Amino acid sequence: MKPVLLETQTQAISIRLVKMPVQEFVTNSSEETVAKGRELAQQLRAPVLVLLSGDLGSGKTTLTKGIISGLGAAKEEDVTSPTFNLVHEFHNHSKVYHVDLYRVETFPDLESLGLEDALSEKAIVIIEWPERFTLRTDWPTVEIRLNHAGGDSRRISISGLIVEIELK
Ligand code: ADP
Ligand code: MG
Repeated sequence: MKPVLLETQTQAISIRLVKMPVQEFVTNSSEETVAKGRELAQQLRAPVLVLLSGDLGSGKTTLTKGIISGLGAAKEEDVTSPTFNLVHEFHNHSKVYHVDLYRVETFPDLESLGLEDALSEKAIVIIEWPERFTLRTDWPTVEIRLNHAGGDSRRISISGLIVEIELK
């Protein structure tokens, strides 16, 4: 049989990384904040550090419920405040850590959390109260600030998000 040359069309897809401008929005219920977290989850790629700042009750854990459930790493109701056991670990396609530094007083306490291990693998690490320590990492870092804006309203600002854009 004669060899037949099949013509193939290859589609080159290149991915470009784009740093998003600071995004600010207001949510008016915890459900809306969870929904925002789910949206955000679609834009996160490990390794990434997500720092959540804001007063008590501003919605850091609520937003985390959305992020972790949106990543498919756990059900929303299984994401609770890690205030007492400090680090929660979830598994999906990548490891997801949820850490609360609120009650972490000293550097040895911080070391005992095993954050360094978390940061040595390709993970998604979500940290509440990051301002309690200076965290040094060369990981891409998304900074999220939540503020009370009266009643059930919360102002949320997100900076440092890097998203992948597919160019065909
Ligand atoms: P934090 O982790 O910042 O201390 P939580 O997420 O644990 O805060 O608690 C936020 C509280 O505020 C919850 O009781 C939640 O139901 C309530 N809440 C009311 N409105 C909102 C909102 N728009 N976004 C997030 N939480 C809200
Ligand atoms: Mg919390």
